[in-house]
Amino acid sequence: MGAGLAGCSVARYLAASGQRVLVLDRGGVGAGASGRNGGFLLRRADPWIEGLRRAAIAIYAELEDEGPLGCGLRARQLLLVATHGEELADAEAHARQVDGAAVDARTEPWLADDLAGAFAIDGSYEVEPMAATAAMADAAARAGAQFELGVEATRLSIAHGAVDGVVTDRGIRSGSRVIAAAGPATARLLATAGVHLPLAGARGWLMELAPLDRPLGWVIEQALWPSQEAMAAIAAAPSLGEVAAAPIGPPELVSLLMGQRPSGGIVVGTSINRSLREEPEGEKTLQAVAANAARIVPPLSAARAVGAWSGRRAMTPDGRPVVGDVPGIGGLAVASGFSSVGMVTAPETCRRLAVGAADPELSPARLLE
Ligand SMILES: Cc1cc2nc3c(=O)[nH]c(=O)nc-3n(C[C@H](O)[C@H](O)[C@H](O)COP(=O)(O)OP(=O)(O)OC[C@H]3O[C@@H](n4cnc5c(N)ncnc54)[C@H](O)[C@@H]3O)c2cc1C
Repeated sequence: MGAGLAGCSVARYLAASGQRVLVLDRGGVGAGASGRNGGFLLRRADPWIEGLRRAAIAIYAELEDEGPLGCGLRARQLLLVATHGEELADAEAHARQVDGAAVDARTEPWLADDLAGAFAIDGSYEVEPMAATAAMADAAARAGAQFELGVEATRLSIAHGAVDGVVTDRGIRSGSRVIAAAGPATARLLATAGVHLPLAGARGWLMELAPLDRPLGWVIEQALWPSQEAMAAIAAAPSLGEVAAAPIGPPELVSLLMGQRPSGGIVVGTSINRSLREEPEGEKTLQAVAANAARIVPPLSAARAVGAWSGRRAMTPDGRPVVGDVPGIGGLAVASGFSSVGMVTAPETCRRLAVGAADPELSPARLLE
């Protein structure tokens, strides 16, 4: 269930091992966060993310070589910027861990003159998110996976303690194994089998600007983006009392992340809003994202805004993905909770799930009461 990067990755490796695979999605390939994200594969200090990131880069490179569709994979240098003292301390600590080098922000023409500091960090990559997801879907299809798009899974069908199919808005689809890879919607689908996985939705906004007259040359990130654990706390599902007390959706956090597409267009983000609905909450967030970008990178103020969109990340309480078999229900597995690092972590964690080597540390068992 789900034709995002996670569902397509599992499908590819299951089909390659000779299984009969059907991928269901209520929209199309990449209709969720996988087609709507930044596509940044940023170098991180956390060893668990870094290992998965290296594996993902190899998988994207393989897709570029083997398939007819490119992923837009390219190496990029990251400029980590700090606007004030507290961010500077975080930026310095991160730069130390990943061999970053201090850059004089005042000599960098893209940056405001009054920033607290900036660091150049090698080893990051970018992909085109929709292209990468489509290339993974294409690899799955070439391995033999079938796709049924525009079909909504509504519940799991369970018999004698094991899953035997999925109920959809077009009828029942039978199968001896079901992988729930439906982003934040995974929680509601699992709940139909009595499995209560604590997944929250965290909306993020991005906008695209028309090309500027000179190349950007960097991916620019503000040293404000939280750790996985801190992001999970920020995005935690609200209580009914909190929903009653105040609107859901003001930006919980806005932090600059921007890069340039091969076409020249500039992608600017991003934000964290707690999110309960498919329909975008937090309309004012876009304004806050734009104001923050213009404050840090003043030449962007004059760039023409071409479009804006948001997507929903699935968050677990510990900020790590949840990938593995669901205990107590035969044949049921989950691949979700990829938060803001799904383009980095989904390909390899889903490959491991498909080949029967899911990481025990990411097992749903850790989150189930
Ligand atoms: C603004 C933003 C920026 C981001 N930037 C980055 C980044 O730079 N780098 C990075 O690594 N990650 C980034 N991410 C995170 C990344 O996009 C996600 O972690 C990743 O795409 C999750 O993939 P997925 O397949 O688990 O979920 P999704 O891509 O959300 O796929 C879930 C699919 O399930 C389908 N579905 C849902 N319900 C049903 C149902 N009932 N029946 C059938 N189908 C259903 C949906 O249509 C969807 O296609 C960003 C996310 C956002 C929102």
